[in-house]
Amino acid sequence: MTDLKSMLPEELETYFVQTLSEPRYRAGQVFSWLNRGVTDFDEMRNLPKSLREKLRADAFISSLRCLQIQRSATDGTQKFLWELPDGNAVETVVMRHAHGVTACISSQVGCRMGCAFCASTIGGLVRSLTAAEMLDEVLYSQRESGERITNIVLMGIGEPLDNYDAVLHFLHLVNHPDGLNIGMRHISLSTCGLTEGIRALATENLQLTLAISLHAPDDETRSALMPVNRACGVEKLVRCCEDYFAKTGRRVTFEYAMIGGVNDSTAQAQRLAALARRARAHINLIPLNRVEERTAFSPSTPAQMKAFCAVLEQQGANFTIRRSLGGDVDAACGQLRRKREDERNL
Ligand code: SAH
Repeated sequence: MTDLKSMLPEELETYFVQTLSEPRYRAGQVFSWLNRGVTDFDEMRNLPKSLREKLRADAFISSLRCLQIQRSATDGTQKFLWELPDGNAVETVVMRHAHGVTACISSQVGCRMGCAFCASTIGGLVRSLTAAEMLDEVLYSQRESGERITNIVLMGIGEPLDNYDAVLHFLHLVNHPDGLNIGMRHISLSTCGLTEGIRALATENLQLTLAISLHAPDDETRSALMPVNRACGVEKLVRCCEDYFAKTGRRVTFEYAMIGGVNDSTAQAQRLAALARRARAHINLIPLNRVEERTAFSPSTPAQMKAFCAVLEQQGANFTIRRSLGGDVDAACGQLRRKREDERNL
């Protein structure tokens, strides 16, 4: 069966012309219906019944089932748990802020990156999501929340660059003017630092924001937290970020979850500031979310964060502290960070 919703208009055109022997313009009609979130071919009212039946016999419209909605009483953040057709489940978080509504999207069921502080990786990787499934996270979030999604962050469950082709396809789908038309500048992609993927992304010429989960400025600490660092150390990763900036002109963000006694010393702040300066990166500090299964890690104390920030400040580093959103809807699961942009709260 053909996964229609994963297709870009030009792919749909090829499908209509070559596979179905139908006129090219049908592709545009179907793309538009799919991106408005129809769930059945009969809703495509400008298609003849014969074509709807032909499509039904050869293709499917991907869909999600909403298993659970949690709504924060304090800030309106909503967390959706979706069931995929094969029974697996993923989450999407919808956050409201002054300049729009952000959906935090999962790119895989589980994750194989093995970061020691993260809950997503506990059961390993089950499978990657298709482009249509990621698009559905946005479409169904809009439907369930009644809000138009204006921003997307690929910061949910999974490692987006470990699902490169589908993620790229998803980006082109949501960005398409005949689809959701979400500008690339309103999209962020977060990676644990797969350098091959970062180098490939640099050649795609997209205006999105690349976020690197750095979390430590030295190999000893980073390798203990993030197995990916054993394959490619901090030096090589930062060089890759320098190249990314040189090629795209887009400033990368260093994500830095503050973990008490692990990565929050003033010496580490010095090193972090130096790396960020080299890569011209913006630093985002996030107090670690407590994860039940990860009791070895706790957030830095406010005093330690203050001392850390003082060093960054003194070094002229470009940084913000993100305020977590949705604390009462399981933000502390560590799988999805609910946060508000650029909120300095120390
Ligand atoms: N795999 C991608 C994106 C998913 S995670 C990546 O690694 O970037 C999104 C962000 O949440 C990452 O920066 C990740 O390191 C961070 N994160 C994971 N667990 C966390 C926790 N318990 N507290 C704070 N941030 C966490």
